[in-house]
Amino acid sequence: MSQRILVIGSTNVDLIVKTDRLPLPGETVIGGTFAQAKGGKGANQAVAAARSGAEVTFLTAVGDDTYGPESLAALEREGIDTSCSKTVPGYATGIALITVDVTGENCIVVAPGANATLGPNQIETAFSKQTDLAVCVCQLETPIDGVERAMHMARKSGITTILDPAPAAALKHSLLSMTDCVTPNARETEALTGIFPDTIASAISAAGVLFEQGVRTVIITLGVDGAVLVDEFGSLALPAPKVTAVDTTAAGDAFTGCLGAVVAKGYPFRKALPYALCAGALSVTTVGAQPSIPNWNDLNALKGKVFGLDD
Ligand code: ADP
Repeated sequence: MSQRILVIGSTNVDLIVKTDRLPLPGETVIGGTFAQAKGGKGANQAVAAARSGAEVTFLTAVGDDTYGPESLAALEREGIDTSCSKTVPGYATGIALITVDVTGENCIVVAPGANATLGPNQIETAFSKQTDLAVCVCQLETPIDGVERAMHMARKSGITTILDPAPAAALKHSLLSMTDCVTPNARETEALTGIFPDTIASAISAAGVLFEQGVRTVIITLGVDGAVLVDEFGSLALPAPKVTAVDTTAAGDAFTGCLGAVVAKGYPFRKALPYALCAGALSVTTVGAQPSIPNWNDLNALKGKVFGLDD
């Protein structure tokens, strides 16, 4: 059986400043050290899937600046096939300005650059070149018509579809009904359902709203409180492994990329969930997006310690 994942989405360069606290609107705060790291929800999820042991094809668009080729080369070094990605003349590579406070909470502004050009045509071409896909993963940092086309083409071909609805947006019923699994965080859940999941019970209610709209498995991530899953068999709430958080950037990306990889190995979503929780937890223990994404040995060891070794 194929274990290949097609991840479709953004590539960004993250410009990160640590600060005691996040600035209020109109306020300037003096921060600490500056760091630059490779990021973008799509690229992060592709890296998370590759480090979780999947064969990964990544479809993205980068600018013809110095960042673009560097970013694609770094992804190739992770073993990710980027041959269907494109470098767009006259565009900058996506940039994310990230501030992180002492508790690990962050605040992010993204300039999409070339990511804004990743539309249905490029996605159709990529699908026509892939014959061995098990899973397709999308997020919302690239144009929505491309995401819709990807979900539609994947569903038509019997490929499992995973949508991380981030950044937060309301979505059409027609898109949700083509999705096998969504993985919103708390704020994204509120944008999708009008319910802010501040308790396990309200998370289960919100997940039920998305399930009723045709999503087969709804997984709501709840940060330090873990995640809630709702599917045809009912609900499941699992805790997050206890770790010391230093930077929560890309926790959701580590979670969704790992989830996709484990599902591509043939696991049902319920059995893949503990692995994804461990990937998310390990990612918050290190600063940066891609530098913080764990490898399979580390997350498998944590999974055994927290959730047991049996599958
Ligand atoms: P996002 O990063 O998209 O905002 P969350 O904050 O819900 O999403 O985090 C995604 C997942 O990462 C959580 O479900 C959990 O598994 C893990 N995670 C996030 N923060 C922590 C934390 N402080 N401790 C342990 N795990 C965490």
